[in-house]
Amino acid sequence: MPAGEPRHAPIIVWFRNDLRTGDNRALSTGSRTGVPVIPLYILEDEEDGSATLGSAQKWWLHHSIEALASRLASMGTPLILRRGRALEVLHSVVSVTGARTVLWNRRYLPSHLARDAEIQQALQIDGVTIESSEGHILHEPTQMRTVSGGPYRVYTPFWRAFSSGMEPRPPLARPESLMPIGMSLQSDRLEDWGLLPNGPDWSAGIAAQWTPGEDGAITRLDAFLAKRLAGYGEDRNVPSIDGTSRLSPHLAFGEITPFQIWHATEMSRDEVPTADLQTFRKELVWREFSYHLLVNCPDLPTANYNSDFDKFPWREPGDLLSAWQRGRTGYPIVDAGMRQLWQTGWMHNRVRMIVGSFLVKHLLIDWRHGEKWFWDTLVDADPASNSASWQWIAGSGADASPYFRIFNPILQGEKFDPTGEYVKQFVPELADIPAKYIHNPWEAPASVQSEAGVRLGETYPRPIVEHRRARERALNAYHAMKGKT
Ligand code: FAD
Repeated sequence: MPAGEPRHAPIIVWFRNDLRTGDNRALSTGSRTGVPVIPLYILEDEEDGSATLGSAQKWWLHHSIEALASRLASMGTPLILRRGRALEVLHSVVSVTGARTVLWNRRYLPSHLARDAEIQQALQIDGVTIESSEGHILHEPTQMRTVSGGPYRVYTPFWRAFSSGMEPRPPLARPESLMPIGMSLQSDRLEDWGLLPNGPDWSAGIAAQWTPGEDGAITRLDAFLAKRLAGYGEDRNVPSIDGTSRLSPHLAFGEITPFQIWHATEMSRDEVPTADLQTFRKELVWREFSYHLLVNCPDLPTANYNSDFDKFPWREPGDLLSAWQRGRTGYPIVDAGMRQLWQTGWMHNRVRMIVGSFLVKHLLIDWRHGEKWFWDTLVDADPASNSASWQWIAGSGADASPYFRIFNPILQGEKFDPTGEYVKQFVPELADIPAKYIHNPWEAPASVQSEAGVRLGETYPRPIVEHRRARERALNAYHAMKGKT
């Protein structure tokens, strides 16, 4: 407790994207003071607030808050829910409870950093102390600097600096109990926030796949360490295999920290090949790199990192965009990915790259349309990883895939889903097409199509663009842009 504060003034712990009780610096600090702790979650009405999350993440948020509230109740204190503008809500809770301290874990969206600074200033004027802690990423994005003192723009030197730098701190234990405030505080009803679908309920496929909340995250991590970390280097590229951790939505909501994951992999060091462990950590560090880019380039989600791309001749999205969104492009691996996303709220990383490349290169649709669709449909939508990855795919990013490297969706399918198992899972109308034609059913002889019950243009779409022509058109568009720069 800061010197000079009333001895028993309660402390507010403001939960944001850190919906957990383990390895939570703000909560641990609060519990150690020995004064009452008020855990608070605000559904923020600001333009970039939690109230404006995509539909899939609203579903997740509802269940994650439910899980957090239940855990906090078992530790002795209820989670207070309020909807509104963050500063107004905090002012109101401070004035009703007499709290003199607010604790939070930092968040890194540039607009959040700016808002948190404003809130801190405004509350300090009223004599309220703010303490902010780390927790969401392994190293502060502003601390990682190249030898010349600037931010990194390329992943490999970032990884080198990262892996030769300080070992991430060990995770913090969960507090055993929390002291309640001993007065009843007004709290919204979670059901009244309308986070769950209110039209047709599309969430069954998502609910079948995921368990939002801290316990769900730890169960995922344990299963990954026990069964999938050994072999990760190979298996992570095969979409039909459950070969990755699927921790991304849990990380996005802060139900688990990268510190917990990093140290858990350290504990497995003797049981798994070093190469697999290293490959997995490199992926975790892509997330760090994405935050590094976002903090150092705040308009990453909306503007081309490489401004040459401002002159790129994108086409109007129209029906092509909706065919892509609905998984009806006629390219089976693309359609399987887009349907996996719609049904489960998640898509395999390899397939994200294929569908992303298809949108921006085959269809010449601006990456921002893809980013927006992913934002609305992914349970793991993350402002840093989503925008950095889309810009990587589009060629407009910091350390981007060269534009002229255009994925061939047929070859990608044949390489990473050779038996078509993944495609058949999400595009059942192709279930009886032999593996030889699963990625290019239009090339199957008429008798094979008919035996498989496939009538192109009726049961399954014909390709909406022809690969070779689309490739050529994409390269021409790129050269046109280069000519103008
Ligand atoms: P694992 O393979 O188990 O990796 C472990 C963790 O490392 C992930 O949970 C994630 O936090 C991190 N990670 C892995 N790959 C990447 C990567 N390429 N970039 C950044 N972090 C990574 N990831 C998101 O978390 N949110 C997004 O909104 C998002 N949008 C993407 C959009 C596109 C176009 C592409 C190509 C990738 C996107 N990714 C995004 C990155 C990646 O696809 C997912 O992180 C990964 O598929 C999550 O599955 P997993 O947890 O099983 O990953």
